[in-house]
Amino acid sequence: MKIIDTHTHLYLDHFKDDIGSVFKNANNIGVYKFIFPSIHSKYNNLMIKCYQKFIDQCFLMAGLHPAYVTKDYDCEISLVYENLEKYNCVAVGEIGIDLYHEKKFLNEQKIVFEKQINIALDYDLPIVIHCREAFDIIYQILFKYKSKNLKGVFHCFTGNYDQARKICDLNFKLGIGGVVTFKNGGIDKFLSKIPIENIVLETDSPYLAPVPYRGKRNESSHIIYVLDKLSELYHLNNKDIADITTKNAITIFKLDK
Ligand SMILES: [Zn+2]
Repeated sequence: MKIIDTHTHLYLDHFKDDIGSVFKNANNIGVYKFIFPSIHSKYNNLMIKCYQKFIDQCFLMAGLHPAYVTKDYDCEISLVYENLEKYNCVAVGEIGIDLYHEKKFLNEQKIVFEKQINIALDYDLPIVIHCREAFDIIYQILFKYKSKNLKGVFHCFTGNYDQARKICDLNFKLGIGGVVTFKNGGIDKFLSKIPIENIVLETDSPYLAPVPYRGKRNESSHIIYVLDKLSELYHLNNKDIADITTKNAITIFKLDK
């Protein structure tokens, strides 16, 4: 079985003492590629170091996370360009709008989101979207780029069926992780109505650990519980879910070139 964790922050300090075994545990269940979303310049050195250590199985995104947007975003945008030029980044992410942590920079968040969408279009890369309490704003922005062949992943999708459909109609995939195993997560109620061809797997480690590890540190090997849940919802076996979602990830992130 071959699995791709399309969104994992294994470079963060949470893993500094056991990163070797974290990779080994994941490899043991079939996770063979890991994609690191970028957050902010203060994590950049950690991210690059971890990427270089496990370069045969890791890929990078370049981007400024919306919760870290303030008035001075110019340096951060320069770093996005720098990383895109230096490393073989596979996406611009994670980018978007986050109104859960901070509402006062909404205007800046919108500007930075669109700047990064345009960078992705220039570099012919997909985007990876972080959306927190901002679906309508994000959808409105994405809708403007409908004809521009913009593609990507709606990371950690937690919306409703209608929103899921709208995203797929815009050529975006849904990033599904631990939330699908949560009793009150909600997405398990309708997800099987969305064709599995629209789904990629992710953990968002160290966050959002699936049941039975909910609330604990998440790591990429826990993706197996996401797989189990999806095979229950779609009435497919784990290998079929892995095959299809891995193919989806390879296509969207162009990992085979
Ligand atoms: Zn993330």
